[in-house]
Amino acid sequence: MSALLKRRFGEPVYKVTIDAGFTCPNIDGSKATGGCTYCDNTSFSPALRRGDPEIRRQIDNGAKFYRERYQARKFLAYFQTYTNTYDDVSRLRRLYDDALAHQDIVGMSVGTRPDCIDAGKLALFQQYAERMPDKLVCIEYGMQTMHDATAERINRAHGHADTVAAVELTRRIAPDVHLCLHLIAGLPGENASMIRASMDECARLAPDSIKFHHCYVYENTVLARQWRDGLYEAPALQSHVQLAADCIERMPPATAIQRLVGEISSPGVLAPTWGKTKMQVVGLITDELRRRGTHQGSRFAS
Ligand code: SF4
Repeated sequence: MSALLKRRFGEPVYKVTIDAGFTCPNIDGSKATGGCTYCDNTSFSPALRRGDPEIRRQIDNGAKFYRERYQARKFLAYFQTYTNTYDDVSRLRRLYDDALAHQDIVGMSVGTRPDCIDAGKLALFQQYAERMPDKLVCIEYGMQTMHDATAERINRAHGHADTVAAVELTRRIAPDVHLCLHLIAGLPGENASMIRASMDECARLAPDSIKFHHCYVYENTVLARQWRDGLYEAPALQSHVQLAADCIERMPPATAIQRLVGEISSPGVLAPTWGKTKMQVVGLITDELRRRGTHQGSRFAS
């Protein structure tokens, strides 16, 4: 994605994360309570929500770091925290308007659940894409897996049919919006062939980009408890490298790959501990593809 952004905007574009104070239907009880088993439970308490209502100030604060360190000038507003379409259209419009009006913002990316979108919200996204053709308007859906049994096991509180419906609706109502799907490798109960089946299904849905990462264990989560009790084993480095290479091979050549690895050294991450940086893991994945003599799309079944 950074290459795609650099090509489109002529220079590096840095993501500034925004916490707009959303919650999630999987937390507030409208779909379920407790959240996904890997989601950080400490932040469920409303008292701990950090949402700064002033989007502009969040962008300025986030951009300051990149300006000072990398002389950055262009930024993407990344609505990342919780479910960023979980409100009515008028509030969404206010929040997104604020972000897109910032003079150094060249686009926005909005992360959400596939069961938290509808025609009205997508029409808003399409309006931005039409009114602001110079900006990138992106929506990211957490597909995570195509297996409903896994979704149930991780308390995802939506099934794969929701992802398929969200992708179809997005393509129909918001054809000019960049569509990204998230996939997680190493969810509880999944083996490599199940993960590869999710990759093939993701490829069939032909997203504009994907974010693929390993399942990691964050402290104070249900998954952390399961991991401590020996009920969950975090993915091994070598198996993730193999799966990431499999994923690249299976994606359509036109799908941008935004991410290949999850958190490995952030505070709060208990497992896996691979002793590598993300860049080193990406290097191992590149080496694996070289060893196989394959490339993106080489196993894409169109
Ligand atoms: S959908 Fe996202 S925010 Fe909601 S509980 Fe799951 S991981 Fe957390």
